[in-house]
Amino acid sequence: MKKQCTCWLGLILFLSLTGLAFSGEAGQDVKAVSISEKIYLISGLSGAGNVVFLVAGQGVLVVDSGASPADGLIIVEKIRSVTDRPIRYVVLTHSHGDHVFGLQSFPPGTLIIAQQNLTKNMQRDDDEIKDNLVKLPARITALKEKIALLGKKQKTLRLTEEESLKKLEGQYAFYKELQLVRPQITLDNGKMTISLGGETVEIINPGPAHIDDNLLVYFPGQKVVHMGDMLFYRHHPYIDWQAGSNTATWIAALRDVQTWPVEKVIPGHGPVAGKEALDEQIRYLSDLRAAVASGLKNGHTLEQMKKSIVLPAWKDLGFPNMLPYAVEAVYHELSRD
Ligand SMILES: [Zn+2]
Repeated sequence: MKKQCTCWLGLILFLSLTGLAFSGEAGQDVKAVSISEKIYLISGLSGAGNVVFLVAGQGVLVVDSGASPADGLIIVEKIRSVTDRPIRYVVLTHSHGDHVFGLQSFPPGTLIIAQQNLTKNMQRDDDEIKDNLVKLPARITALKEKIALLGKKQKTLRLTEEESLKKLEGQYAFYKELQLVRPQITLDNGKMTISLGGETVEIINPGPAHIDDNLLVYFPGQKVVHMGDMLFYRHHPYIDWQAGSNTATWIAALRDVQTWPVEKVIPGHGPVAGKEALDEQIRYLSDLRAAVASGLKNGHTLEQMKKSIVLPAWKDLGFPNMLPYAVEAVYHELSRD
């Protein structure tokens, strides 16, 4: 069996376990909501990571692009409902599809900025998508034949298979429409500063955390930071160990952000928060690392730990199905150290 080693497969896993399926349909109640003098949050996009945009004198800078080309179109439309200034930049917090699949819908000439590993991760995703485009038609045909054979007698089984068929056809249509757009500007380490009509934007590479290509986007004049998926507020995090995650560096970066004079913290998923959200993410990751370290010390296997580690302090968080995968990520990280 092919080893599941791409972040694309990681993303599919994430979306299916969290219920954030990539339907390509954007919600009806999408709005641009002001969260500081010059920054707006696009709220109501189902399945996408949080998108914000800065409206400055010389134009607009957007952080992330939604989970589908349809999301991208709606984001552009919502920006246009606030300003007619040009959309100059899209900064990508990282490569996962729920943050980058809307890129193709942005106006030509929009400069895309990302961490340099994003290009490599995006290429792997692109290969995986192309592979799926080749294989899916045969799977769809085989499933249709199976459903026809089931006929009207085996109703329950037929309904289940029809549901699977709908999902496969939805995936195929989605992949066919999707074009992965590469960044024109990449950042290796350190930070990049953009001045945009009186506003400064700091794009910071914190090192591997949720994945090996995450960036933080800091708006010092607005006292706002977009954390990307380095913050899953009120949700269990997805930790992409197959694409270089590192919870030790992640915690160190969160501690660093705690020292910045920010008032609004934008998570990749979950509601806009204050600095308390950073503290919660640090405590969650520390609890997870301690639980896995204890399991390793006691000679537990990965499978045992995936079943036994429950993190009672965090039992009410969303995306509960992500916990075994978070355990697996930290297991690989700590086994390597
Ligand atoms: Zn992510």
